[in-house]
Amino acid sequence: MTTTLLIVEDEPKLAQLLVDYLSRDDFACHVIGDGNTVIEWVQQHNPQFILLDLMLPNKDGISLCREIRTFSNVPIIMVTARIEEIDRLLGLELGADDYICKPFSPREVVARVKSVLRRSVGALPASEKETSFAAHQHDIVIDADKFMARVCGQELELTPIEFRLLNLLCKSPERVFSRDYLMDNVYVDNRIVSDRTVDSHIKNLRKKINHASAGKILISTVYGVGYKISF
Ligand code: CA
Repeated sequence: MTTTLLIVEDEPKLAQLLVDYLSRDDFACHVIGDGNTVIEWVQQHNPQFILLDLMLPNKDGISLCREIRTFSNVPIIMVTARIEEIDRLLGLELGADDYICKPFSPREVVARVKSVLRRSVGALPASEKETSFAAHQHDIVIDADKFMARVCGQELELTPIEFRLLNLLCKSPERVFSRDYLMDNVYVDNRIVSDRTVDSHIKNLRKKINHASAGKILISTVYGVGYKISF
């Protein structure tokens, strides 16, 4: 099945290189080089994946990512020219699914895109789907097939990674999951991911759950160990 993928990149050669590689893997690519036209295009075409460069003419990747997240949970990989930038980006909690640093090999990009896709909708292993329903007796309902999580009757707007984190935590309420475990299960083959990535996604997830459950469902930090969820 073809996946529509938007490449937001203002260096034409680099964009073309990505198109060449991704097209071979059955991605239907569209390239936009100007930050100003991205939002409208995304709203009209609803791509299934976005590769988003940080530095762009007219509107930068940070503003774009924030704006996209107000109306869409489409998987986003942000591309930056500086490795140091990644820490700052994580701190901003933009809701991107992964970060890639330039220069990259196109093969690496393809692998990352596939990896993010795998861990999002429809790609959940059967074991994760089953356990979702054990959470029914609580105020939390997760339907992995529909990529839907409801807390106290309110549907959550989650990114694919937040969804997978929540799904994992809900498998065993009160169990403390180490960052390593969460990383292994949510970010299978990423070299750049640090434990701060997990922290940042958890922070976003926690905010959303607190808000929807009015503090009834808590994700707590167990210092030096990891995270757990309590109903
Ligand atoms: Ca650029």
